[in-house]
Amino acid sequence: MRPLFIAGNWKMNPNTEADAVALAEAVKAGVGQDHAVRVALCPPSVYLHRLDSALSNSPIGVGAQNMHPEPSGAYTGELSAAMLVDVGCTHVILGHSERRHGLGETDAFINRKLHAALKAGLIPILCIGETLEEREQGRTEAVVASQLDGSLDGLEAEPMAGVVLAYEPVWAIGTGRTATPEQAQEVHAFIRGRLAEKFSEAIAARVVIQYGGSVKADNAADLLARPDIDGALVGGASLKAPGFLGIIEAAR
Ligand code: PGA
Repeated sequence: MRPLFIAGNWKMNPNTEADAVALAEAVKAGVGQDHAVRVALCPPSVYLHRLDSALSNSPIGVGAQNMHPEPSGAYTGELSAAMLVDVGCTHVILGHSERRHGLGETDAFINRKLHAALKAGLIPILCIGETLEEREQGRTEAVVASQLDGSLDGLEAEPMAGVVLAYEPVWAIGTGRTATPEQAQEVHAFIRGRLAEKFSEAIAARVVIQYGGSVKADNAADLLARPDIDGALVGGASLKAPGFLGIIEAAR
């Protein structure tokens, strides 16, 4: 049985540490000591350390939104996996479409990050997903398959079981346009089938695959009821505690 996993991707929000701590504390209060659903918050990196202490004595994980694959060195503006671990990170989002498309990140670069994250003991949340144009051209499966092949290159079976995947159709991110539960399930099942081919049925059955793209409290239950949808990566709706807690509630 795969545990459901709800993660909040705060992106470049909020603008003050006080607001970040207040949001984390409200989520912490709502989650309490409930371990039934896995939860993580992914704030901007300047708040990671502060959130790690705000979330102490709570089952909620703390995730970064990006990292650099190299262990240290002349990489202005970047953060290493070791730095993230040192400030209390448990997770790291890799290959988000806003970085793939907005900042030109390639599967090969994301693949190097994935290996570095696993080596450092971080749980990667690896994002994949097609654009609207790719979907309309009937290329969804081809795009997702090639992102999987490129980003997971060189990965052994056992570490794969610890990687979280997030299927995020680009056309559903921040647009208010969610994939229907049927559309999402179809791609999730395809992804799991691909993992079974690449690794094994047993490994594929263990990999948590989140859906992301305009998930809200009122559409979460329908999505999460599908057999291959194991959680959600939530952007906009993770910025207000009641809405985010509503999604966690839907996962219970
Ligand atoms: P959204 O973002 O929930 O605001 O659509 C999801 C994401 O980009 O991870």
